[in-house]
Amino acid sequence: MGMLEIKTERTTNKKNQPDVDKLGFGQFFTDHMFIMDYTEDKGWKDPRIIPYQPLSLDPAAKVFHYGQTVFEGLKAYFNVDKRVQLFRPDSNFKRLNASNERLCIPAIDEELALEALKKLIRVDCDWVPAAPGTSLYIRPFIIATDPCLGVAPSKNYQFIMIMSPVGSYYKEGMKPIKILVEQNYVRAVAGGTGAAKTGGNYAASLKGQEIASKDGYSQTLWLDGKEKRFVEEVGSMNVFFKINGTVVTPELNGSILPGITRDSIIQLLKSKNIPIEERRISIDEVVEAFHNGTLEEAFGTGTAAVISPIGELNWLGEKVILNNGEIGETAQMLYNHLTGIQNGSLEDPFNWTVT
Ligand code: PMP
Repeated sequence: MGMLEIKTERTTNKKNQPDVDKLGFGQFFTDHMFIMDYTEDKGWKDPRIIPYQPLSLDPAAKVFHYGQTVFEGLKAYFNVDKRVQLFRPDSNFKRLNASNERLCIPAIDEELALEALKKLIRVDCDWVPAAPGTSLYIRPFIIATDPCLGVAPSKNYQFIMIMSPVGSYYKEGMKPIKILVEQNYVRAVAGGTGAAKTGGNYAASLKGQEIASKDGYSQTLWLDGKEKRFVEEVGSMNVFFKINGTVVTPELNGSILPGITRDSIIQLLKSKNIPIEERRISIDEVVEAFHNGTLEEAFGTGTAAVISPIGELNWLGEKVILNNGEIGETAQMLYNHLTGIQNGSLEDPFNWTVT
């Protein structure tokens, strides 16, 4: 079966682009968007690039009531050769389909999605910011559109991609963050939707985030939903600890999102012969390692910040200070290596980038 043709309708009313200093995260959107519809009888059809515009949806659309929706987040970088480079986009569309499977949403054609994204970026290529650390953030998502309040999988969907130029995450340089370990609320449970990228997980995380912010902490460290003992994720990042020379990250257990940065970091560490273990790790083990002086570093990983060094973990009021609150050498090395591959200044032996 051949690939569907992607039509393009260009805007006649281009927006003024924001100042690069004012970009922030996810506040401005490019001139165009991609959209494609799903109906039960025709499947996914009519892929098209159109001027960026509001959607018109029935108020009864299932997505508003039951959260049948999935999304992705990836970036395009203006690289050192003045070309636009995507980082592992195939992994994002693969994960989108894994999320679809969990949310009973029909799979998309991953190849078509990547072609559509490349075409959309070509149409809006003047929106890819060039300043160091900036990028074009891409948000693919799918919504259930059936106007019916019955709790059942929708028969109609829309797959949409929008794009937002974003500023440098570390304008004043990489800075370690303070994390509050959450004892009451959890973001996901075994058998739930934690491994899928779906709105409900993020709605569930807001309360913990609010509590952490009130106490001056920038994010929540999430523990498992059953025993509240095992470390899961930090904010919307995966988490790594360096204990006695070995890097440890929680194994993918069904309630943790399989981060693409996480996977890249694991591959990078292996290529550098730095010991890396994917296994269960309890908060008690982390605190004990702190007490006996073997807890060397901790950091979060994700598309937004790439690496976020952790300077402090607050567990039941005890402040676990990492590496004297300074950036650890492993975190710094991984950050330099990964961002170097992303901006094209370092070789890409893993074939992660797509120009
Ligand atoms: N965990 C959660 C809950 C997230 O939302 C994200 C961001 N997608 C991550 C981890 C990191 O994933 P990635 O490295 O693919 O951005």
